[in-house]
Amino acid sequence: MNNIRNFAIIAHVDHGKSTLADRFLELTGIVEKGSHDEQVLDRNPISRERGITIKLAPVRMSYQGYILNLIDTPGHVDFSYEVDRTLSCVEGVILLVDATQGIQAQTIANAYKAVEKNLMIIPVINKIDLPGADIERTKKQIIDFFGIDEKEIFMISAKTGDGVDNLLKAVVEKIPSPKIFHNDYLQGLIFDSYYDNHRGVIIFVRVFNGEIKKGKKVKLANLKTEFEVSEVGYFLPDLTPADNLKAGEIGYLVTNLKNIREVAVGDTVLDKENNQGFSFSGYKKIKPMVFASIFPTETSDFPHLKKALEKLYLNDSSLEFSPIYSQAFGAGYKVGFLGLLHADVVRERLEREFNLSLILTPPQVEYREEKNGFFQEPVVKVMIITPSEYLGAVMKLCQNYRAKFLTMDSKDQIILEYEMPMAELISDFFDNLKSVTSGYASLDWYFLGYQQVKAGKLELLLNGNVVEEFSEIVVEEKAYQKANFLTNRLRELIPRQQYEVRIQGRYKGKIIASSRIAPFRKDVLVKSGKVLGTGDISRKKKLLEKQKEGKKKMKMVGKVEIPKEAFIKLFNKNN
Ligand code: GDP
Ligand code: MG
Repeated sequence: MNNIRNFAIIAHVDHGKSTLADRFLELTGIVEKGSHDEQVLDRNPISRERGITIKLAPVRMSYQGYILNLIDTPGHVDFSYEVDRTLSCVEGVILLVDATQGIQAQTIANAYKAVEKNLMIIPVINKIDLPGADIERTKKQIIDFFGIDEKEIFMISAKTGDGVDNLLKAVVEKIPSPKIFHNDYLQGLIFDSYYDNHRGVIIFVRVFNGEIKKGKKVKLANLKTEFEVSEVGYFLPDLTPADNLKAGEIGYLVTNLKNIREVAVGDTVLDKENNQGFSFSGYKKIKPMVFASIFPTETSDFPHLKKALEKLYLNDSSLEFSPIYSQAFGAGYKVGFLGLLHADVVRERLEREFNLSLILTPPQVEYREEKNGFFQEPVVKVMIITPSEYLGAVMKLCQNYRAKFLTMDSKDQIILEYEMPMAELISDFFDNLKSVTSGYASLDWYFLGYQQVKAGKLELLLNGNVVEEFSEIVVEEKAYQKANFLTNRLRELIPRQQYEVRIQGRYKGKIIASSRIAPFRKDVLVKSGKVLGTGDISRKKKLLEKQKEGKKKMKMVGKVEIPKEAFIKLFNKNN
């Protein structure tokens, strides 16, 4: 096992992890130079289109007699659970820093994770080919932050391949081989999984002790699931069958299990017969921070949504979901996400990978109601890294988001820490932070706890009836603003009806905003003030048919007809 090296690439988003992985894949002959897509390991189409890694991605390479198991990771804070799970499977990491950006928030957050796990860290400055690269400054930042000697820092261009061969040699020399404690019995950690329609649950496993072969009878330590392994193999990066997976190796196993709940990420694979084996501590359950309701556009698609969520959960165990019912949309799910990007990616994966059409309500934090009319709201600790010239602008901005200043550390860049309500963080804070710092500031955060806040339910009424789908808990100081926005926006989105429609926002029993839509006087045959001539029969028919079709897509809320489109537009920021 001395010839195995398990390692990951970690960094802030866009610092070049997946591009560096490409160069490693070329050097080791997994792909041929010039004949593959960029960022080969970003295999999900959503990853490819958005240019961001959303999943950890393992690959096994051979290099000068060594087996190198690399796991590429996402850099965005919403996908940090992928990094956590990855780091439990490797002995070392390459910590990549973009020479044009310097150290950013996830550089530090991810480096701390690696330090906590006692992993060997190889610091690397990337993008040295770019004219904007400030190698000396980046070097100094790394030395200052991590207390590392200058000689230990590698310099590469993942794009041109400059320095990459040298770095791969360092991986072999510096990263320790896996420690094997015994071979008497099997212990493998499940770090990821997915559902294959033909072969059931596929498990991604890091074998720590013992070995797994095809035909072996195994059990899961916590879920107690028992099954016979029908195939084992490596990631090349496609699943490629092999004879066995030995202690120290990373690979996959095919379970043929069709019941999705029988496997969970973080569980330990053990021999079925040998009772010496024990469970690893697994992963700390991650806490979703923002919640949204998801409904199928076609109510009859609910069973498909249920199946889809369950299958997706195998591949994204940070999801949390429970069934709900809405007057307007029927049966759906309340789903917990790690952040806004995560919510958006999950929606898109559900639609594309499972062929669903969905309505997602705006993601919100969860308030806990107390007896005395107060609420508890989730608070996060935020770390902001910014060049010093933007310090004033950043501090001023934070004041508008109910943020409490904690600490400041100034080196080459400034590191600020704030305590901030999660509700503020998921408003437009990040966009504004980027704009006041010309894109230079970066942000990391983690959940701290709950704090008391004056809040209440902002109810939206249509002709006196509360519409739950448009109502939400809002902190007192934002109630007027939100109520005005809602009543005005709905006036634009709801079409005229036979009756007058009164739209009101009610907060703590008081109407605080209102608007109205005048009743429908003209019928559909009157367009832009002109009555269509009687001769134009076919056109008239078409219009009436169109109207009939449109009706079907209406939702009756009390006596008010609301087109589904209106909900979707209201719920979707970009419309
Ligand atoms: P990741 O988010 O860390 O995986 O970053 P990617 O590998 O997706 O790279 C982000 C962007 O930086 C892409 O447009 C890459 O082509 C570019 N990039 C990565 N490494 C280099 C480099 O060494 N030089 C240059 N010029 N561009 C690079
Ligand atoms: Mg990437």
